Amino acid sequence: MKIQMVDLKGQYEKIKEEVNAGIQEVISNTQFIKGPQIKSFEDALAKELQVNHVIACANGTDALQIAMMALDLKPGDEIILPVFTYVATAEVIALLGLTPVMVDVDPNTFCINTDLIESKISPKTKAIVPVHLFGQCANMDEIMAIAQKHNLFVIEDTAQAIGAVYTFKNGEKKGAGCMGTIGTTSFFPSKNLGCYGDGGALMTNDENLAKKIRMICNHGQSIQYVHDVIGVNSRLDSMQAAILNAKLPHLKSYETARNQAANWYDEILGNHPLVSIPERNSQSTHVFHQYTLKLKTPQGFEGNFRDEVRKKLAEKGIPSMVYYPIELHKQKAFSPFWDGKENFPVSEELCASVLSLPMHTEMNLEMSQFICGLVIEAIHDVQSIMNR
Ligand SMILES: *Cc1c(COP(=O)(O)O)cnc(C)c1O
Repeated sequence: MKIQMVDLKGQYEKIKEEVNAGIQEVISNTQFIKGPQIKSFEDALAKELQVNHVIACANGTDALQIAMMALDLKPGDEIILPVFTYVATAEVIALLGLTPVMVDVDPNTFCINTDLIESKISPKTKAIVPVHLFGQCANMDEIMAIAQKHNLFVIEDTAQAIGAVYTFKNGEKKGAGCMGTIGTTSFFPSKNLGCYGDGGALMTNDENLAKKIRMICNHGQSIQYVHDVIGVNSRLDSMQAAILNAKLPHLKSYETARNQAANWYDEILGNHPLVSIPERNSQSTHVFHQYTLKLKTPQGFEGNFRDEVRKKLAEKGIPSMVYYPIELHKQKAFSPFWDGKENFPVSEELCASVLSLPMHTEMNLEMSQFICGLVIEAIHDVQSIMNR
């Protein structure tokens, strides 16, 4: 059985007609930039997420940068973010001359540890950027309460969690990316709602912010050749919007397929003494952008157990990934933002022990059983070498 980390070809085969028709239409009317597909996609996504405004842009990293520009964040402002995340979150903060302030994460849900946020707030703090990592929401009750108390913006990095729903303690339900001041997402091909190139979007319920975001995405232009603010050139191509229009109606069924695969993994791997299956945040649905488990190192093992298991798995033909092998503070590029002393013990532990298994919309029971069988075998192989 040939196993892939993601199967975009298999997914395409099932929606070929809609996708091809959409692409053909763009070619026929040649409005490759700012075609009608953009607005129809923005409107459809806004409806799907139940948010007032969706503004498409070129990618998820731009979306984060544009959000920070729209909120007038200025050099020296401090922005709180989890230390265990994809680099894009921190990159745009540094690029705008803002100061990333890193916070350790929860060992079970992998999202920012909200108990640690307040101790990092200073008079310079302007925003919190929670990352809804691997497909489930951070603790938004706590984050929104802290933000309100300290008058901070909340920019939700929803690149991995589009479609996830958070239930607040008062019973109110809101979509990932639609709870804070601005939400951002990515349509990178392997994301849960992926196009066939780069793409991204911002979500907000604030009409004035939406206008400003739209302006910034388009060179800060209010009317043609009139530039009110410094902007960027960041747009979603019509072709990508057409592909997203074809895929959006399937988002819910994709989420179901991912959850099904996760449940199969859980059932087989959940009893293994050296495996911790991903814990669900009881207040959020999980859209399983990644199925990420933690491997426990057996007593007396020298070296990195996870790395050895991953090597064995690869030999057996099973791809896997380490999201993420290095915490932000240990990255050379971010050394100016780390005092060299502060520890982030949970993130350090995660970087050494997490392993993401194949996860996509085309997974079936046989595949998950096959993968789990070989994961268990790989763990066993590494242990027997150790005991030799
Ligand atoms: C993918 C991703 C991004 C960036 O999205 P791009 O479209 O690749 O620029 C940002 N944040 C997180 C958490 C991501 O996973």
